[in-house]
Amino acid sequence: MVAINGILLVVVILNDSLVEKNGGDTSGSWDRCEVLRLLHKAQVCPWCSVLFLADPGNSSKDYDNQTIMTALQSWDPDYTSPSLGTAHCASCVGVFGNIDQIAENILQQVSTSGYQPSTFFVRVQLPLGMIVRQSILLRWLKDQCPNYPVTTIDIKSLLRKLVNRAISSASNLTSDPESPFTMDLVLGHGESESDYQKWMPTTGGRNPRGRGNARPFKGGKDVVLNLLSSVTSDQLTEVGLYPPPPVNSPCSVESVTFSQRSIFVGGRYTKHRRDISQTPFSVGGVSLSATSVSEIIGPALVKSCHAERFNFVPSGREDMDVQMLGNGRPFYIEIVNPKVLHLSEMDLKEVENQIGTKQGVQAHRLTLIDPEATRMIKEGEEHKTKSYVCLVWCQNTLSPQTLGKLADYKEGLVVQQRCPIRVLHRRANLVRPKQIHRLEVQPVQDHWALVHLTTEAGTYVKEFIHGDCGRSQPSFADLIGCSADILELDVEKVDLEWPPTQ
Ligand SMILES: [Zn+2]
Repeated sequence: MVAINGILLVVVILNDSLVEKNGGDTSGSWDRCEVLRLLHKAQVCPWCSVLFLADPGNSSKDYDNQTIMTALQSWDPDYTSPSLGTAHCASCVGVFGNIDQIAENILQQVSTSGYQPSTFFVRVQLPLGMIVRQSILLRWLKDQCPNYPVTTIDIKSLLRKLVNRAISSASNLTSDPESPFTMDLVLGHGESESDYQKWMPTTGGRNPRGRGNARPFKGGKDVVLNLLSSVTSDQLTEVGLYPPPPVNSPCSVESVTFSQRSIFVGGRYTKHRRDISQTPFSVGGVSLSATSVSEIIGPALVKSCHAERFNFVPSGREDMDVQMLGNGRPFYIEIVNPKVLHLSEMDLKEVENQIGTKQGVQAHRLTLIDPEATRMIKEGEEHKTKSYVCLVWCQNTLSPQTLGKLADYKEGLVVQQRCPIRVLHRRANLVRPKQIHRLEVQPVQDHWALVHLTTEAGTYVKEFIHGDCGRSQPSFADLIGCSADILELDVEKVDLEWPPTQ
């Protein structure tokens, strides 16, 4: 009963597909039986024959050898598979007879890859020789049977479904188009790969992209198919490709590449040194920092996930000589192509411990986060306030009167900041108003003070202190009425709730 349902389904779908491909004309202007006999004569296998008549691969999942044969015999009751002996189908160059071996090869490679997927998604790249042969066969069928309506066949979709099914039934993996684990399967077939070079000389033997005519041309799919359209049927007959004959060796796996979707880890970092930059910092190939925050944290996570590489994205930045104190600066790391997808709290704690404190950089609250949450980092960079402490030298002693005047700005002020001289090479020379929310001065000695600031995102703190040749107005120097310079700067707080709790 199941088999009968399967048969009916295939036949109905084939008829539907043909209605579409035939522009709605199903009045019998072409004879499927005749086309099927031509395909048999060209030694095309039953799976390919069905594709040349319609396209069940896009519509039906209930296909197998039996349903395919029954569908073909519904058009030609005398139909049998062509007897190929040790040769292989002239169209798919044997791939449909080789599905189980291909699946086995892939699974063997998965088992030694280090990935531990539970689902998978397969992408297939067909050999060029196979694609060229199918194009020639379509043209040949049209020559033999002028009303033959099919202009393309989709071997890739059907092949992908068959490979999916073979992998699923030979393992505990489930095929899932949303799977984070992708298998890129490249099929190769040396024997047919140079077919097109047989007819290339008939187009003048020229490399269409070059001037020479001596070297054999090796082109991509589009170039070759385009050239094929200018080759005559007689020319193809001359080189024995009209129709293409069966092949001696079957199509095989040239390569399989695995990749897994990125995972994201959020956290905060502190930095207690003034010779470590946030990301690698070099000029003319010479590194100007001992190391960087990203080079300390990123590789530890890459190692723990057996990943390929990482992308480090902080919320804002501090200069190399600025310490990052308090509860640290928010960041996230994209871990690209990880072999391990699930990091437990304990795993992440272990990474924090490995990073430790030896280099003055520490990772805190490492958390696996949703990719969507990464947007908050950018928002934090653009909108959240930051708190700083600066060690400032003042030309004059800070008198009680001066300190009293500064107390008026405890609740903040607005500074007009023209783009600092030191970043003019990369930012527009514009004046931007910046809100300072808090300004508190703590005298240390006669000429020295600690200045605590809470500022709007994007405020240039060093420039606010010394004035940057009048480009920041008013500056701290303006407020105290003499020159001032900043000796040390530390970030005390970046005001962003991060990382998000899952
Ligand atoms: Zn075939």
